[in-house]
Amino acid sequence: MRAVAPISNFGGNISFTPRHKYCPRSEEEVVRILDRHRDGTVRVLGAGHSWNQGIKTADVLVDLRHLARVRVQGDRRRVTVGAGVRIGALLKHLSKRGLTLPSIGLIDRQTVAGAAATGTHGSGRHSMSHYVESMRIACYGRDGKARVRTVDSGSALRAARCPVGAMGVVLEVTLPCVPQYYVRERSVWRRDLDAVLAGEGRAPLQQFYLMPHAWTWLVHERSVADENRRTGGAALYRLYWLAAIDVLLHLCVKLSASLMRSRRLVHLLYRRLLPAFIFPRWCVTDRSDRQLLMRHDLFRHLEMEVFVAREHLMAAVGLVVEALRRADERGSHVHHYPICIRRVLPDDTLISMASCHGIEEQDWYAISLITLTEPREPFQRVAAALAERMSSLFGARLHWGKWFPPGWAGVERGYPGLGEFEAMCREFDPRGVFRNRFLRRVLLRRN
Ligand SMILES: Cc1cc2nc3c(=O)[nH]c(=O)nc-3n(C[C@H](O)[C@H](O)[C@H](O)COP(=O)(O)OP(=O)(O)OC[C@H]3O[C@@H](n4cnc5c(N)ncnc54)[C@H](O)[C@@H]3O)c2cc1C
Repeated sequence: MRAVAPISNFGGNISFTPRHKYCPRSEEEVVRILDRHRDGTVRVLGAGHSWNQGIKTADVLVDLRHLARVRVQGDRRRVTVGAGVRIGALLKHLSKRGLTLPSIGLIDRQTVAGAAATGTHGSGRHSMSHYVESMRIACYGRDGKARVRTVDSGSALRAARCPVGAMGVVLEVTLPCVPQYYVRERSVWRRDLDAVLAGEGRAPLQQFYLMPHAWTWLVHERSVADENRRTGGAALYRLYWLAAIDVLLHLCVKLSASLMRSRRLVHLLYRRLLPAFIFPRWCVTDRSDRQLLMRHDLFRHLEMEVFVAREHLMAAVGLVVEALRRADERGSHVHHYPICIRRVLPDDTLISMASCHGIEEQDWYAISLITLTEPREPFQRVAAALAERMSSLFGARLHWGKWFPPGWAGVERGYPGLGEFEAMCREFDPRGVFRNRFLRRVLLRRN
């Protein structure tokens, strides 16, 4: 038998070697694998773009890259996608037909099933999980035999929309598609968070950044354009954004924070340099799947993302500023990356981060904390303390695809739908084959 090569994730913080790795070519093959390993631990690998240990197993890893069929339904309102299809490939397929997805994140490298598994989101819309209309899942029955179930309604669908891989091997996902649309964008500075939020009516898709050390707000004002037409020098804008932000800003961060480890240079970058590269009068319109995506994947980094309900946003941002300022003054961590904040509309799921199951419906805000430097421990200490405080004060939730502090125990506080989710997991996986250590530690602690 050939030895399995080590697996690692995008962030480089997870690596492991499973005993068996399979790349099945059909649903039947997946079922056979599950039957063969019904006494083991089975996890699925998407594109490996998560930062937590969701993909990790010492036993069986399944890679669904060959389940790559895309079928747009006759009514052009929905698309059924094999679990191995990457978001970028799906967007290309849809775009050729004048269609797109209702919601995407910042990059398109993830698989569709992997993105849905963790509640992947953009700004101003629901997460991708919310939109899932049905799934085909390879799981186990009460008799312990593997089978394929179609999940398309009720509690099972709400659980399966964001399952973190705990309900089985997702084989196929059906999502709605919408006519291709264009997005109008400009970048503007705002003096405070109130002013940023006041712009949401005008620019419902906006995302915004708190600049460390300057503590100013840069807003990507975004709204759906009236016409499907490129304007404002969109091609040049793409080039500018790629060169100035996706590459140059990151190189400056690497140089100042990683190589030179200079607090003064990091301060200078955000207080003086970056503002010179932002052009608030430049307003462009481009196709949604160009305007909403960035090359955020060019530089390896580690990210934790904390979700708070709108009523807590102001206080949560206050805590972030206080913690980062204090770490900076003590010299324990110089924060060196813009803090991106995105609004996610309430999801109809049991445990996605914007799930409103069992609580009052309101928007959620995702606060992202990123480090590009190594060693990562100084950042991780500040991030872990912030996550803990926000969990106890605001019932904050952590992104299922991003970094989890080792001692994180906030799930029970955060999700009223957890009990129902656990019951679904027991139904689809009575013997706990899909549970790895990560799931046992943070999600399914009571089982
Ligand atoms: C550069 C970068 C940018 C990002 N931008 C965003 C963003 O804008 N918004 C956002 O919300 N997130 C973002 N993320 C996070 C990312 O979307 C999620 O971590 C997503 O889950 C990654 O998808 P993947 O295909 O790589 O899945 P993986 O990381 O491979 O897997 C994620 C989880 O899903 C499970 N899984 C995957 N496929 C299946 C399947 N077929 N059946 C059962 N379980 C499965 C895995 O076991 C694992 O637990 C970003 C990540 C990176 C690295």
